[in-house]
Amino acid sequence: MIDVLLLGTGGMLPLPARWLSSLLVRCRGELTLFDCGEGTQIPWQRTGWGFRRLGAICLSHVHADHVAGLPGLLHAVANAGRTEPVALYGPVGTAATVAGLRVIAPKLPYELRVTELGDERFDLPGGLTGLAAPGKHGLPVLAYRVGAARARRFSPEQARALGVPLPLWRPLQRGEAVRWDGGKAAPAEVLGPPRRGVALGFVTDTRPVPGIAELVRGVDLLVCEANYGDPADAAKAAEWGHMTFAEAAALARDAAAKALWLTHFSPALTEPEAFLEEATTVFPATTIGFTGLTTTLSFLKEEGVG
Ligand SMILES: [Zn+2]
Ligand SMILES: [Zn+2]
Repeated sequence: MIDVLLLGTGGMLPLPARWLSSLLVRCRGELTLFDCGEGTQIPWQRTGWGFRRLGAICLSHVHADHVAGLPGLLHAVANAGRTEPVALYGPVGTAATVAGLRVIAPKLPYELRVTELGDERFDLPGGLTGLAAPGKHGLPVLAYRVGAARARRFSPEQARALGVPLPLWRPLQRGEAVRWDGGKAAPAEVLGPPRRGVALGFVTDTRPVPGIAELVRGVDLLVCEANYGDPADAAKAAEWGHMTFAEAAALARDAAAKALWLTHFSPALTEPEAFLEEATTVFPATTIGFTGLTTTLSFLKEEGVG
C-alpha cells in the first residue's frame, strides 16, 4: 500500500496560491519526497505527516524550482529530531548541486547520502523499490517509478499438511527451501501464484520520450507534468522540454496507466481547470493536481482470499 500526497503543482516560480511541484509518498509510515523547490516545507507543515520519517529524497533534476527548497527542508527534518541517514537520489550532476546547497546547511544531525542514479533498481523507505529512466529537458533529468511488491499468499493449511515445523514457516514464506529432521519443503508447495503489487510514476520536466512510457507502464497512478494547457503551446513545450495537457494524457494512455494527476503548471497557466478537457479526451481518468490532493494505492482484493 502506498499513500501519495501532492504538496505543490507549480513550475518555475512559487505563486501565492500555488506551491512548487513536489510529491510526498508514504509506505509503512516512512516517507519519500519527490523534488523540493522553494518553500516545499510550508505546504508539508499542514499535512500532519511530519518531517522526522523522511528517509529519501528523489530529485528529477537540478533546476531551482526542483531543488532550491532543500537547505530549509534539511533543517526542518533536523528540527523534527531525525538522526537516521537520509538518502538523496538524482541524475548526474546532483552531487555537485547538493554540495553547493549544503554550504548553507553544513551541519545536520543525520547523514545525507547522495547517489547519482543510472538504470539500477534502488531501495526506498518502507520497503518500496525505485527505478529511474532518463528524460529530455536540456540537462540530465530522471523520471521515477516506485513500486510496492506484494508477497505471494502463504498457505498455513498446506504447511501443516506437509508437517513443516512452525519456526520454518517464515523462511518458507520468504521463498527459501527448508529442511528438518525427517522432511523438506519448497516454497512452491506452500505459496500461491505471484500477486500484483502497486506502482506510481513521477514524471516532470521532460518530453514524453518512449523510455518513460516503458518505465511507467501499467502504474496505478502517474503524476506527470503538464506545463501548458493550450494546444497552441505545443511548440513551446517541445522547445523547452515540457509537455502539454494532451501530451501528458497521451503518455498516460500509451503507458496504460490507471490514473493521471497533472502538475507543474506554468505560472502563465492561471486556470489549469479550463484545459482539463484537452487531457480527458485523450485519457479520461485525469485529475488536475492541487496542494493536498491525496490517495492510497492499495493491493487489489482477491476473490476468496480477502
Ligand atoms: Zn520545473
Ligand atoms: Zn526544469
